[in-house]
Amino acid sequence: MRQKKQIKVTNYQTLMYPDLGYPYELRKSRGKSISLTIYPNNFIILRIPNRMPKNQVIEFLQERKSWVQAKFQDNKKHNPKRAEFKDGDLIPIFGKLRQVIHTKNQETKLSNTILYLNIKGIKSESGFRTRALSFLKNELLQIASPILTDALKQIGTKNYDLKIRKMRTLWGSCSSNHQISLNLGLIFCPMEVIKYVIVHEATHTKVFNHSTAFWHLLSALDKNFMKSEKWLKADRSKTLCYLL
Ligand SMILES: [Zn+2]
Repeated sequence: MRQKKQIKVTNYQTLMYPDLGYPYELRKSRGKSISLTIYPNNFIILRIPNRMPKNQVIEFLQERKSWVQAKFQDNKKHNPKRAEFKDGDLIPIFGKLRQVIHTKNQETKLSNTILYLNIKGIKSESGFRTRALSFLKNELLQIASPILTDALKQIGTKNYDLKIRKMRTLWGSCSSNHQISLNLGLIFCPMEVIKYVIVHEATHTKVFNHSTAFWHLLSALDKNFMKSEKWLKADRSKTLCYLL
């Protein structure tokens, strides 16, 4: 949900962790410190300063090897699995646990407790997921568009494009070229959290940082934002495990 990265990342690369074989993303930046982050979905980022010698980086990775391995296994064991949308699966969708029911003679639709998934023409199991995500992406767009339009109107900014895409760590982003992106993973979040993320990004069209002015404007638009913020902090990228 940051407007801009504080440190400009100059380079991205996906590499394998020595001896463990877990993929990690190497990000070189103009910053001065080295850091390693493992998200609950086992997405690993190593951030290093631009000119750090290779042997120093390898040494750093070696030192943290057993910590990384333990964390990785722990995440795998305790965090939600990727949603596959198989017949009978229980998945939280827009904040309610719904059962996936495969059908061939009715349209894909959401009821209070069920996601009816039309599986006509689907040839492999991965097709269930593709079809369900594309349906839910459109549902999210239908939900998000009016909320965003309304928020922008209240803030007094306009001409922002709304895009929904898969993101590995952020719930939403607001870019200087007038685009607001929402994470597709929001389909697994409660409605008030979806609203909060949209209003949060909309607020960034006016205030680009997280200053007092930002939170002040945000709270005028979403009085219950603290509750959603807490929800995201607690369940955060655990929820993204369903997506990634
Ligand atoms: Zn933000």
